[in-house]
Amino acid sequence: MHIFKDTCRRIKMTTSLKISLFLIVTLFSNLSAAQSTNTQKISENVYSIFLNYVQTLVVIGDKGVLITDPANSIRAKQLKKEIAKLTPLPVTDIVLSHEHYDHIGGTEVFPGATIYAQKHAEAVFRLDITGQAPKKVDLLVNEKETIKMGNTKVNLYHYGAADGVAMMALHLPKEKVVFSADLYEANEITNKLWLADSNYLGSRILLNNLVALKPEYAITTHSKSIDPKHLIMGARFYNDLYDAVEAKTLEALSQGFPALVNVMTTLPNQVKLEHFKGFKNYDHLPAHVERMILSIFHGG
Ligand SMILES: [Zn+2]
Repeated sequence: MHIFKDTCRRIKMTTSLKISLFLIVTLFSNLSAAQSTNTQKISENVYSIFLNYVQTLVVIGDKGVLITDPANSIRAKQLKKEIAKLTPLPVTDIVLSHEHYDHIGGTEVFPGATIYAQKHAEAVFRLDITGQAPKKVDLLVNEKETIKMGNTKVNLYHYGAADGVAMMALHLPKEKVVFSADLYEANEITNKLWLADSNYLGSRILLNNLVALKPEYAITTHSKSIDPKHLIMGARFYNDLYDAVEAKTLEALSQGFPALVNVMTTLPNQVKLEHFKGFKNYDHLPAHVERMILSIFHGG
C-alpha cells in the first residue's frame, strides 16, 4: 500500500516537474523572442529601435537623446542599454505618443528627462491605479510643439482624438521621418479588442496629414517595418471605411434614432474593403465599420 502510494507520489512529482520544466522553457523562449531587438539607422543621428513589441524613435542631439514611449520599466531598462550602444549621451527628452498605459510606463528609468504629453493625457493619468503613469509631465502640448535636438527639428502635432484623446504624431522635416502610434500596422488590421477608445475621424485626419508630408520613413509603434507604404495603406483603410459609411450614416441621422440603429446593426456586415482582403484580422472589419459609424454620428 505504502509502496503504491509512493509510486503514485513519484509519478505525480515527475509529471509536475515535467510541466514546470515545460513552462520554464516556454517562458524563456517567449522571453528571448520578446527581447529580440531590431535597431534601424535612419540618418546620422536618428534611429528606430523595435524592442518587446514596441518601436521607439531615437533622436540623438548635441547634449542628450530624445525617445518616444519607453512603454514599461522592464523595456525601458533594455532600451537604455540599446541606446548606450549608439551614444554616451543620456536620455533627456521623452515624448509620450498618447495616454494608453502600454506606452507611458518606464519614464522613471531616465531620471531628469523632460516628459512631454498632449494636455488631455492628464485627465487619464490622474485616474491611473496601476502606477504606470508618470508622476509628473513636464510639458503639456496643446496643438503643436517643436523640440530641437542638435540640428534635428522634432515637431509634435495633435490633430484631435484618435486612439485615445491625447494622440500626438511626430515629424522630423529634414530627415523625412514621421512617427505615429497604434493607428495602423504592417499588412494587418488592428485587432477588434483595441478599438473601444478610438475616434476614427481623428485617426483618418492624422494619417492623411502624415501621408501629405511625403515621408521616407514612417514608424508605427507595434510594427517593425518603417516603410511608408504601410502608412499609405493605413490612411487608405480609414478613407475607404469613411467612404463606405458616411452617406448612409448621415442619411440615417436625418431620419432619426430607429434609422441609426438600423445602420448600426446592418452596415457592419455589408461593408467589404477590396484592398484589405489579404490583411491579417480582415474578419474583424465589422467592428471597424461600427467604430467609424459611431465616430461620425456619436463622437468618439
Ligand atoms: Zn493605444
